[in-house]
Amino acid sequence: MNTQIRIGVMTSGGDAQGMNAAVRAVVRTGISRGCAVYAVYEGYEGMIRGGDLIRPMDWSSVGGIIQLGGTVIGTARSAAFRTREGRREAARNLLAHGIDRLVVIGGDGSLTGADLFRREWPELLQELVTAGEISTELAAAHPFLGIVGMVGSIDNDFSGTDMTIGADTALHRITEAMDAITSTAASHQRTFVIEVMGRRCGYLALMGAISGGADFVFIPERPPEIEDWESHMCQVLRTGREHGRRDSIVLVAEGARDRNGKPITVDYVRQVLQERLGEDTRVTILGHVQRGGAPSAFDRWMSTLLGYTAVEELLSASPEREPQLIGMRENRITSVPLMACVEETKAVAKAIAEQDYERAMALRGGSFSEAFHTLRTLVQSQPRLDRNIGTPLRIAVLHAGGPAPGMNTAVRAAVRVGIDHGHTMLGIHNGFQGLISGDIVEMDWMSVSGWGTTGGAELGTNRKIPVGPELYVVARNIERFNIQAILVIGGWAGYQAAYKLYSSRESYPAFNIPIICMPASIDNNLPGSELSIGADTALNNIVEAVDRIKQSAVASRRCFVVEVMGRECGYLALMGGLASGAERVYLPEEGVNLSDLQRDVEDMRYWFQRGKRLSLMIRNENANSIYTTGFMCALFEEEGNDLFEVRQAILGHLQQGGHPSPFDRIHATRLAVKCIEQIAHMTQNKENLGAFIGYRGGKVQIFSLDEMPPMMERDHQRPREQWWMSLRSVARALARQAPQDA
Ligand code: ADP
Repeated sequence: MNTQIRIGVMTSGGDAQGMNAAVRAVVRTGISRGCAVYAVYEGYEGMIRGGDLIRPMDWSSVGGIIQLGGTVIGTARSAAFRTREGRREAARNLLAHGIDRLVVIGGDGSLTGADLFRREWPELLQELVTAGEISTELAAAHPFLGIVGMVGSIDNDFSGTDMTIGADTALHRITEAMDAITSTAASHQRTFVIEVMGRRCGYLALMGAISGGADFVFIPERPPEIEDWESHMCQVLRTGREHGRRDSIVLVAEGARDRNGKPITVDYVRQVLQERLGEDTRVTILGHVQRGGAPSAFDRWMSTLLGYTAVEELLSASPEREPQLIGMRENRITSVPLMACVEETKAVAKAIAEQDYERAMALRGGSFSEAFHTLRTLVQSQPRLDRNIGTPLRIAVLHAGGPAPGMNTAVRAAVRVGIDHGHTMLGIHNGFQGLISGDIVEMDWMSVSGWGTTGGAELGTNRKIPVGPELYVVARNIERFNIQAILVIGGWAGYQAAYKLYSSRESYPAFNIPIICMPASIDNNLPGSELSIGADTALNNIVEAVDRIKQSAVASRRCFVVEVMGRECGYLALMGGLASGAERVYLPEEGVNLSDLQRDVEDMRYWFQRGKRLSLMIRNENANSIYTTGFMCALFEEEGNDLFEVRQAILGHLQQGGHPSPFDRIHATRLAVKCIEQIAHMTQNKENLGAFIGYRGGKVQIFSLDEMPPMMERDHQRPREQWWMSLRSVARALARQAPQDA
């Protein structure tokens, strides 16, 4: 008997961008682990109808789908699967192919259905034997059904995973729409009321408001506290106008409601604003636009990792092991008991339905509440001067290092929260060069208006690190401008410069002030932070460019070598590779040697001879100084003979440009708020006056600058600890290897 493990993969319930990447990873990981993988088309409906709707997949059946939105294997809702007869039929159809392991990508309904199916499986098989539809031997060969779940839902409404497949892309669509609406709203000084999805989860509305810069937001978990929220909303928007705001944007989650459980609709909000403020107010319902379009870089790489891990999990499934949900927590792929997560998800919905909002908010977790409070501060049109936060300080903000999308967002958040806390905020132009030349201005609340959404760095940035007598000039300017704290939002050069000041305190007492660094670099090469601001935008820029490059090669057999930035850090290359489906990535951490290149050429020759049309390699700019991108292309071209052509694409500075991605905007905002709080804390305690902030294990962490040198590989300008290096094995498993005898 054939003992090969047979896996079925299906998408079910609402579609979500990134499902294809997950299916691709399940199919390819399964094949590379020696399993047979079948796609069940059209969700449970296809499982019940069987026939052509359950199809074996090979390596190339999932080629070219990673960049597509929706789900290529279809999804459906199935009333029949809710019945026992339906599920018996489904079991029979799976057994016809010997499938007894299932990967289900869907929402809580789909996953509940899968668990029920698993529990009933032995009985269903018994019934089929009794009815003479299957043999006793067949039933005995498949005594249990192994299942594993992944959540596909743009709403991000699931407990047990910090992100669901599709949520980040939906946030991209919302942010793009808001950027577009903001520009027209500002031209006409209009007010827009925008409805986003989220019947029982305010994630999209809340994060959309932070990243798109809304002035007021309504979410299901947290109804307005006051009964007369209408007057409060009008007051906030009116004050904003008085302070020079040209546009007003109100974001409403479709499930928003007031304290009494009455829905807050966009039409009602529009009517209130029109009547009470007399403003030209328009409604935009984003609707299915949020489900559409190409998946974001994050949804591609996360779903790829989820799919890979799902197969690994399924291979260790046993009747004793509880079915698992593969999700992402604290920036790591995790596996947690499936049904406990489904129950908790249902508990939030129940709390909202019962108007127990405290509980709903508590179940959502700390970072959700924190985001809500941050937003409340940021959207005010003017500072709350009555607040007593502690000693008012004069805090200077500057950039250093290469430009990173999200730098402006960080400055905006820092300036507004700083002013809100009673501080005076100073902007230093052109990095440490500006601190030397005294190019320093006071920034007020409206001076950063619109900065939340723009790329580049309005304050200017460069890689200057003050040395020798310049330190003296810096010290003088700190005194002259009475700077009492410095916030450096930047990359490697910024961290070096901050450390320089910090370690020269003995000679220059002026440097005895809080100096804090915040990671902003597309290279993602900073100590203490798993993700730096700008890296997500750069990854999105890379995958978009690669999508276009791939499209240019439809007609010929071609190998592309795409060079990406990152300096001495391979993050962009590896994650760009995972997100774009590259066969091979070349990292500076591993280098490149001749035998690697020889093997790569042989693999390509093998597969191009067997009908392959496109090969994609991603190479970090510093992977090897001798084997350059040009050299590699020449080598491949020569060795490829007339089997395939080779083209190089050096992506260059387009990676640093463009509007910051939603994640970078949210991340920048969150870190900037923490930095301002930390500066006040450091001033009060005078314990250690140099620090850097980071995002590690899903949390914001603060380190002393004393800890920095041992955390860095100075010669290579990268941190010693790089969490993503462990993902190289996934990239390898998903790359097609030529047989040894090729
Ligand atoms: P989602 O998976 O996005 O929550 P649905 O709730 O519509 O979407 O569920 C998708 C499908 O999963 C349903 O059409 C049905 O076939 C199946 N399903 C949902 N709940 C159950 C259940 N309790 N028992 C059996 N099947 C279910």
